[in-house]
Amino acid sequence: MSSDREALAGLPSMTRLLESDAAAALVARHGRGAVVDALRAVLAAARSAVADGGGAPDAATVLADAQDLLARAEARGVRRVINATGVVLHTNLGRAPLSEDARAAVLAASGASSVEYDLASGGRGSRTAHAGELAARLCGTEAATVVNNGAAALVLAVAALAAGREVVVSRGELIEIGGSFRLPDIIEVSGARLVEVGTTNRTRIDDYRRAIGPDTGLLLSVHRSNFRQVGFVADVPTAELAALADEHGLPLVHDLGSGRIAEDGDALAALGDEPVVSDAVGRGAHLVLFSGDKLLGGSQAGIIAGRADLVERCRRHPLARITRIDKLQLAALESTLRSHLRGSAATDLPALALLATDVAQLSDRARALASTAAPAGITVGATLDVRPTDTYVGGGAAPGRPLPGVALAVSGIDAERLARALRAQPVPVIARIEDGALLLDLRSVPEADDAPLADALTGALTLLRDDAAG
Ligand SMILES: *Cc1c(COP(=O)(O)O)cnc(C)c1O
Repeated sequence: MSSDREALAGLPSMTRLLESDAAAALVARHGRGAVVDALRAVLAAARSAVADGGGAPDAATVLADAQDLLARAEARGVRRVINATGVVLHTNLGRAPLSEDARAAVLAASGASSVEYDLASGGRGSRTAHAGELAARLCGTEAATVVNNGAAALVLAVAALAAGREVVVSRGELIEIGGSFRLPDIIEVSGARLVEVGTTNRTRIDDYRRAIGPDTGLLLSVHRSNFRQVGFVADVPTAELAALADEHGLPLVHDLGSGRIAEDGDALAALGDEPVVSDAVGRGAHLVLFSGDKLLGGSQAGIIAGRADLVERCRRHPLARITRIDKLQLAALESTLRSHLRGSAATDLPALALLATDVAQLSDRARALASTAAPAGITVGATLDVRPTDTYVGGGAAPGRPLPGVALAVSGIDAERLARALRAQPVPVIARIEDGALLLDLRSVPEADDAPLADALTGALTLLRDDAAG
């Protein structure tokens, strides 16, 4: 007991710790509050270690532990990572990687920029006018505007066109797409009333017809995105729904989700029936909505394109201010739209290039990665082999339609530990584990990341070897 008390008395005091040069350096980096909290946590742990019969750490050890804690907290912020999951548009990993040009545009816009300034007249300009023009041209619509994300586009469109009125939706399209986006809730927060028609698996045009009344504000059609219906199912084609809407003078709003643009052609056969924006417009949807960072291949954004009067009502609604797009997103979006308009999207935009990469190329890259990492692999008894995989578009597009991929598989060691070691590298790598093997799937890795990926794999294997030795 008394030796415990002596050990506790040996613990450095907070005041003494904070007076040290090491603490001053930590305060300069992390701020005083965070350093005090970290020291307090380390001291508390030291006290309970002493109570369990351990010795008291000296000041240098306490400071080093606090530095560790602070570094780990810092690493929890947004960082660049390598996406080796095989899911190209991975929502947790930031969806579409931006093109070189879009990155340069973001950098250029990051200081003072003409986001709401008209350089020709020297007066106030519109934030969204230019992106809106580009989007309208790309979609083949009279007008377009842009907001913060796809969910905001839907809230704004429903609020602007149908607040206090009824929105008619098929029961087969009442989706949840994750991140607490559930269609019935979205319609409710937009101030409209949901009117469900049809059944889960089958909805007919007469179901919509019967639901239309004096309170109807709009007909809404929603792409199912992250799931598919097969078997005894029936939907109403967009053209038929548009004709019904026209008959009643109602707008048909089509939430497309991923924003697939036609030019991707055969290369993206895996996209199958993923809707194309211009088709939905051609079939008569009065307003189409889609995301900027799914198959469009750009920054987070929501695009609202269609008839000029409807777009204008969205633009003038008070929620337009609340759902406003940021200047960095806007700069990247304008660049991405320009890539599509000049026909170079398939090569400019990494998301589309990744989806179109052929398997032979992926195999070559996986083999190169294997030979670079082989020496480090041998030291821990890992087996490296190149194998075919199923990969996914992600972002809710083409669910259940895998694209062929190629991964470097690391087996014969603890895959969970290797995954952790990969995430702890200077450029963290996110892999996936299948049947006990760790897979680095190249379908979602831009070629420019091959070198840092090889470094990270070597680093992680070396870490495992050192752990085993120590
Ligand atoms: C993804 C998606 C949204 C939401 O778009 P975000 O850009 O993620 O906000 C809305 N509707 C559909 C059908 C979607 O697939």
